[in-house]
Amino acid sequence: MSKPIRIEASVACANFAALDADLKQLSAGGIDYLHIDIMDGRFVDNFCLDFSLMQTIRRICDIPMDCHLMVEEPERFIDRAAQAGAEWLTIHVEATHHPQRALQQIREAGARAGVALNPATPPECLNYILDDIEMVTVMTVNPGAVGQRLIPAMVRKIGDVRRLLDSSGHEDVVIQVDGNVSFANIPAMVAEGASMLVGGTSSIFHKDYSIPDAINAVRKLVETSGRAQ
Ligand code: ZN
Repeated sequence: MSKPIRIEASVACANFAALDADLKQLSAGGIDYLHIDIMDGRFVDNFCLDFSLMQTIRRICDIPMDCHLMVEEPERFIDRAAQAGAEWLTIHVEATHHPQRALQQIREAGARAGVALNPATPPECLNYILDDIEMVTVMTVNPGAVGQRLIPAMVRKIGDVRRLLDSSGHEDVVIQVDGNVSFANIPAMVAEGASMLVGGTSSIFHKDYSIPDAINAVRKLVETSGRAQ
């Protein structure tokens, strides 16, 4: 059974000089989620969005927010991210000694739990936390910066994660792809089983498209990209 494909906008790629205009265009284009990257300067060598920005966004629009914590010891931030309005909350399995407990904390905070895997992290690390998640984020680039190129082996990894989920009775767990989700890369990602697409500078915020046109272009691509059986 194929899953509905959700299209997300990576807010880190928005124009911050006119953020409310971008949010209105995303809303008009019918984007499904805003993807909020939180970085701490430790897990990744960068800083990015924060909880006060999430609260500002919530005052401007009601697009659901999906919060990606690229931080060490995410336990410290889970409650604040949930309070700031995250519907989905994703932690990195590499960022905590206690991923199962952190995933439980996400659910207790009222959010939906996701776990992200860096490019070198094998899918097998999910084996004993499958009952604790609703989403796996396959990082298709190394986390920490926008505008990077897809690591080719990650396309195969999407399929490996999908097979691990399906063969263990976790067909309902969705796969999110994050990193260079471009017009060119989307068909292969969807064919391998990705159903939440985080679009940044290579699709939703592509410089040659208006935001609603870019969302439409992604939607058309999704409609013609079948999941390989
Ligand atoms: Zn992200």
